[in-house]
Amino acid sequence: MARILIVEDNALNIKLFCDLLAAHGHEPEAVTDSRNALDAARAFDPDLVITDIQLPHVSGLDLIRLIRKDEELAKVPIMAVTAYSARGDEERIRAAGAQAYVSKPISVMKFAQTVDELLQDGAEKDAPEIDNPESQANQVNDGPGPDEAGGEEA
Ligand code: MN
Repeated sequence: MARILIVEDNALNIKLFCDLLAAHGHEPEAVTDSRNALDAARAFDPDLVITDIQLPHVSGLDLIRLIRKDEELAKVPIMAVTAYSARGDEERIRAAGAQAYVSKPISVMKFAQTVDELLQDGAEKDAPEIDNPESQANQVNDGPGPDEAGGEEA
């Protein structure tokens, strides 16, 4: 069981992520307003942070940078979730300090797999994963194509 902080402004996504994580035996906690995310993270002491990128007030990219600079939180793995996967997005997200990237609409299987991997590896093993072409986190679907997600939807 892991403590997982979710930073997401969309209520439906919060419910989806919380339900998924709880179903896998984790303890999720959600923050809607990214201005409160850093304080919430310090208080909750999460094993993993999952953050939306398109957030009002403090963007997901800025939040990732703030977490990486925070003494207490610097080593917490971060998974970014974003609806827009323009070219270069993944590089920007990883450069900010996130270990993994999942595009919306999420594949439930990929979401759960990525959470498991990050909980196992932590933030310290990020360098080898970035360069590993077989890392599933590197597989970005540019469009709403059915390829990977299609077969996994119940
Ligand atoms: Mn959003």
